[in-house]
Formats: sequence, structure tokens, C-alpha cells
Amino acid sequence: MDGIDANLQIVKERIAEAADKSGRDLSDITLIGVTKTIEPERINRLVSLGVTNLGENRVQELLSKQPLIEAGVKWHLIGNLQKNKVKYIIDKVILIQSVESMELAKQIDKEAEKRRIIMDILMEVNIADEATKHGVTPNNILKTANELSQLNNIRLCGLMTVAPFVEKQEANRDYFKKMFNLYVDMREKIDNNDITILSMGMTGDFAVAIEEGATMVRIGTGIFGERNY
Ligand SMILES: *Cc1c(COP(=O)(O)O)cnc(C)c1O
Repeated sequence: MDGIDANLQIVKERIAEAADKSGRDLSDITLIGVTKTIEPERINRLVSLGVTNLGENRVQELLSKQPLIEAGVKWHLIGNLQKNKVKYIIDKVILIQSVESMELAKQIDKEAEKRRIIMDILMEVNIADEATKHGVTPNNILKTANELSQLNNIRLCGLMTVAPFVEKQEANRDYFKKMFNLYVDMREKIDNNDITILSMGMTGDFAVAIEEGATMVRIGTGIFGERNY
């Protein structure tokens, strides 16, 4: 046994508890298994347990692993994306969660047009205004969302954030509340029915994120254990 089965069970129970506690429907919450640094055999084990949405944060790692993973997986890019790498990833993922600038969005739009596809994206928000993090600042969300709506080959599907690293998940509750309010505000003010995703919550804080409205949680360590870099 590699523990993935038992760990996943615990994660699922905690997701269900958090949904229950906040009166939310479990079917509204998608678990993304974060597979960075994890070997293909262990990833396939997770897939066999029914987790079919996987997230990687590096383009090269995603591309080299993808052929080794069971078909039918929906891949998400969740980490920083350089403009010159957009062309490699654009037809390999169903969602680019980490769009943090208009320049990047324009590049995605351009590459999507070449391939005659519409690329789904999330806008990454730097909710705690951390110097070390990427993302649009909260004040610029509506302006950026309006600009993104002008691009015909991308579809803005919601917001994503990486909250501060904290010892106790309660410490991030206010940031998740803020994210939810920004998400609701954007849904009201931007004429776009595709905005249905709020991606927030990782191993250390996903229960609180769900209580505050996350529709997508991204979990690595909680499933696979500590990563070896
Ligand atoms: C690594 C990573 C995660 C998962 O983090 P864990 O703490 O291992 O659950 C989630 N989101 C992003 C963007 C990441 O890079």
C-alpha cells in the first residue's frame, strides 16, 4: 500500500464535511489532484481511484508526464506560464488557471485562434498582495475581466488564488471570503455566463476555502504526502 487510497479517503471526507457544514452541494466542488513531482505510477493509481482532474504547475513536467498517464484525464495548468510556452500547452490542458496578465491572455488568445479552439482560463488573483506571488490585484479584477471579454478565443471561467502559506487554516478565512465576494461581484457585473469556477484551497486550508465558497480545490500533499524535490 502506498497510502494514496487512505489519504484520498480522508481528503474526500473532509471535503464532504466542509460542504455539509456550509450547506453546499458536494457535486459543486471539484477536486484537482496536484501531481507535481509525483511519479507516473502513483499518478495513475490516483486516476484509478476516480480522480480524473489533475493539475501541474510546470509546462515541461506536464508535457513529459502526460503520455504516461491514463487517457481521459483532464489536465489543468495551475502554475506560472511564460508567454513563449503557451504554444506547447494550449491544446494539452482543459483549463489554464494561472492567467495573471493581459499580455499572457493575449498570447493565449492568439495561439487559440491559430488552432481554432476556445481556451478556458481563470484569472489568478494575488489576494494577499504578496510580493512573491503572481496574480491580478483585487482592485484590477473588473477592469481585467472586461478586457479579457474582448478576446474571442478565450473564455473567462472564473477566479483562482494561492492563499498565503499558514500554519492554521483559519488564518486564510478572510482572504477566501474576499475572493468569494470578488467572484460574486464579477459574475454580477461582467456579462458572461461562463463564470462558474472559484479555484481556492490547498492541503493546508481547503476545508475553510470550501466553507467560504470554493468550487475547485487543488490538493497535492494531502493525497501523495510530502513532495521530494
Ligand atoms: C503545489 C500546488 C498546490 C497543491 O499544494 P498542496 O499544499 O501540496 O496541496 C495547489 N495549487 C498550486 C498552484 C500549487 O502550485
